[in-house]
Amino acid sequence: MSATIIDGKAIARLVRERIAREVTELPDAPGLATVLVGDDPASAVYVSSKRKQCVQAGMRDLHQHLPGDISQHKLATTLEQLNADPKVTGILLQLPLPDHLDAAALVARIDPDKDVDGLTTLSAGRLAQGAPGLRPCTPSGVIELLDASEIPIESAHAVVVGRSELVGKPLAQLLLQRNATVTICHSRTRDVNAVCKQADILVAAAGVPGLIGAESVKPGATVIDVGIHRTDDGLRGDVDFAAASEVAGAITPVPGGVGPMTIAMLLQNTVTAAAASYAKRRAAGVF
Ligand code: NAP
Repeated sequence: MSATIIDGKAIARLVRERIAREVTELPDAPGLATVLVGDDPASAVYVSSKRKQCVQAGMRDLHQHLPGDISQHKLATTLEQLNADPKVTGILLQLPLPDHLDAAALVARIDPDKDVDGLTTLSAGRLAQGAPGLRPCTPSGVIELLDASEIPIESAHAVVVGRSELVGKPLAQLLLQRNATVTICHSRTRDVNAVCKQADILVAAAGVPGLIGAESVKPGATVIDVGIHRTDDGLRGDVDFAAASEVAGAITPVPGGVGPMTIAMLLQNTVTAAAASYAKRRAAGVF
């Protein structure tokens, strides 16, 4: 194996330590309201991990566990109450929601200044315009991994495989803001391998196990694997790690690459949202 392994666990730990310091410098502890609807086991595990890390970083855990048969109206009202509560500086509505609920309409109810998942339309618009705002966590985590590993983004050719609202599209915009030359591949792209092979930074976020092999990687390129797939042999990514790491210069493993960064960036967004809220309140003479 020739590639340097980008250790997402270690980088996420450093980010969490930085955040814990930032929390102590705020006039009040940020409050993260995670909203879990129903009893989906995977969602429960994710939410519990977010809550635990929130408390470890010195923030308030303002969790809400709501019944799986809650109505659209009742959930919308709960979100409005969280929007209005000054103790709540960040709101995270855990997705997916049960089928009877309209997730997009509910996400739209979240105050964009408390939208720590960066998923509201206003957050997406702020990102597209390069205005200050809360960015989606996984794409921000990828940028943090590149920066922590001192991989130059400016002027690099970055190829992002995937164009979802959650990962591919916002990541392409973040890379563009950092002056990369960005190409986005999707399911209709002709010869994905040939496009990927041009990348200095190749990000796989297609949700297709093992899509990226050695033949898709330019020698020395940085390969970031966002994909997560549960298999009988444990977690796997979109990249054939063994093959690609023979060609890449640096590469993220799965698990232990992008995954740990997602919650770390959620905590970062929660601090950013709280700091902005406290600055507004200070200007209004509340602090
Ligand atoms: P998604 O909504 O299913 O989007 C997948 C994207 O990949 C789509 O844009 C699709 O193209 C494109 N695509 C699919 N097959 C392709 C192919 N053969 N060649 C090129 N492009 C292809 O998935 P997502 O939510 O972005 O997630 C992607 C992966 O990341 C999943 O494995 C997910 O589990 C993982 N993920 C990980 C984290 C983390 O914390 N590590 C967070 C979020 C997601 P079209 O648009 O043309 O359909």
